[in-house]
Amino acid sequence: CGVFGIYAPEEDVAKLTYFGLYALQHRGQESAGIATFEGKQVHLHKEMGLVSQVFNETILHQMTGTLAVGHTRYSTTGSSRVVNAQPAVVDTRLGKLALAHNGNLVNTTRLREELLKRDCNLITTTDSEMIAHAIAEEINEGHDWLEGAIRAFHQCQGAFSLVIGTPDGMMGARDPNGIRPLVIGTLPSDPVRYVLASETCGLDIIGAEYLRDVEPGELVWITEAGLASFHWTKQPQPKLCIFEMIYFARPDSIMSGETLYSYRMRIGRILAAESAVDADLVIGVPDSGVPAAIGFSQASGIPYAEGLIKNRYVGRTFIQPTQKMRETGIRMKLNPLKDVLYGKRVVIVDDSIVRGTTSRKIVKALRDAGATEVHMRISSPPVTHPCFYGIDTDNQEQLIAATKSVTEIAKQIDVDSLAYLSWEGMLKATGEDPQNFCSACFTGNYPVTVPEPVKRSKLI
Ligand code: 5GP
Ligand code: SF4
Ligand code: MG
Repeated sequence: CGVFGIYAPEEDVAKLTYFGLYALQHRGQESAGIATFEGKQVHLHKEMGLVSQVFNETILHQMTGTLAVGHTRYSTTGSSRVVNAQPAVVDTRLGKLALAHNGNLVNTTRLREELLKRDCNLITTTDSEMIAHAIAEEINEGHDWLEGAIRAFHQCQGAFSLVIGTPDGMMGARDPNGIRPLVIGTLPSDPVRYVLASETCGLDIIGAEYLRDVEPGELVWITEAGLASFHWTKQPQPKLCIFEMIYFARPDSIMSGETLYSYRMRIGRILAAESAVDADLVIGVPDSGVPAAIGFSQASGIPYAEGLIKNRYVGRTFIQPTQKMRETGIRMKLNPLKDVLYGKRVVIVDDSIVRGTTSRKIVKALRDAGATEVHMRISSPPVTHPCFYGIDTDNQEQLIAATKSVTEIAKQIDVDSLAYLSWEGMLKATGEDPQNFCSACFTGNYPVTVPEPVKRSKLI
C-alpha cells in the first residue's frame, strides 16, 4: 500500500494528498482514499479503483481542512471490497482518528480477540482497522493521542508504517523493524510544514523536500508547533524489506541513501559478474527489470536495447486477484520488438521470478519474435518463501522456486540458461549491514516471529 499525510493549514491539503497518492499509485491499485480534518470535522472519500478514478476536482474541492491523510490499497489481508478501503476512520473520546496503514500484522487473531473482549465494534476485516480500534480503545480509557497510539503499537506485531490524522495533529509511525518505508518531507514555507509519504517520489511530486526517514520504532507528531519525535520501543532493529529495494518501490525513490535506480543498476552489474554469458543483446523486462539490465550491459559490454514495449495503461499484473486475470494481464501488457530481437542471442533481465507464469510467456514471446537464444538473468535470489509482512508473494506452493531447482525452472520457462543474483550480492550492494534488511522470502528467516497457524496457512 501507499500512505501519505500532510499538515499545512495554508495549503489545499486534499489536492496535495491527491497528487502524493498519484505518485504512490504503484503501491496499490485496488482502492484509494483521503480524509481531511477541519477541526473535529472529518471529510472522508474512498472508493475502489485508481486514484484518478476515485477523485475529481469537485470531490477534492469539498474536502477542506488543515491536514489530510491518504491511502492507496493493495490487499494482503481482508478481501478486496470498499469497506476495506482506507483511511479507516474511528470515533474516540477526543474526536475522530483517520488511519492509513502500509504493511501487514501477524498477530491479528490475538488482536481481534482482545478487541472483541473490550466490546469493540469491528466493521471490516483488515488488520489496519484493528490498529485504529486498538488506539481508540486506549484513548477511551483515558490516554491522550500519543500515549494511546504507543500503547496500541505495543499490541501489534508485524509490519506497520502508519499515517494517522487527528483533530489535533498528524502522526507518522513505523514498527520496531521499519519493514515498510515511510519518509518525512518539508514544504518550502514559513513556518515549515511537514509531509509524510511511503516513498520520496510522493514528496517530489508536490515540491516537498526529503528531510529523513521516520526511523524504525519512531513516532512523529506533527502539529502547528512543528515536528516532535518519540522513540516508542526499546528494541528498534532495522529490517527494511529488501524487496522494496529490488522491485516494489519506484526507481526514483530514495532508500538507504540513494535512488533505487542506482541500487538496481549496481545489482545488475554484480549479476553480470556472477553469471556471465556470451550474447548479442541485453534487454530488460519493463519497467522493473530495466535498471538491472542496463547495469548488466555496462558490466558485460553486451549492448543494451529495448526488446519489449510495455503498454503503460495496464496495471501491474500481480495486483489483480485471480490467476486467470493474471494470465490475460501479461498478454495485454508486453509486446516484443521483432526488428530488435530477430536472429539475436538475447540476455533478458528481470527483477524476480515469483510464480514463473510471466517469465514463461515473455520467453515464448522473445522466441516467437526470432531470438535464437534466450538467457534469463534475475536480479534477486530465488523466492522460496511467502511474505507475511505486506507483499503479496502468494502461498509457498505457488512460488516456483520453493519446489523446483534452478535447472528445473529453466526448463519450465524454456530458457537456454538461467541464473539468479546471489543473496550475498543483493545485500552487499546496499552498502549497509546485511542485518538491517528483511530478506525472508529468499531465506525463510522471518525477523518478526510468525505465529504457527498463520505460518501454516501459507507454507507447504
Ligand atoms: P512471474 O514470472 O513470477 O510470473 O513474474 C515475475 C515478474 O512479475 C517480475 O517482473 C516481477 O516484477 C513481477 N511480479 C509478479 N508477481 C509479483 C509479486 O507477487 N511480487 C513481486 N514482487 N513481483 C511480482
Ligand atoms: Fe520483504 Fe520478503 Fe521480507 Fe516480505 S519477506 S518483508 S517481501 S523481504
Ligand atoms: Mg517486473
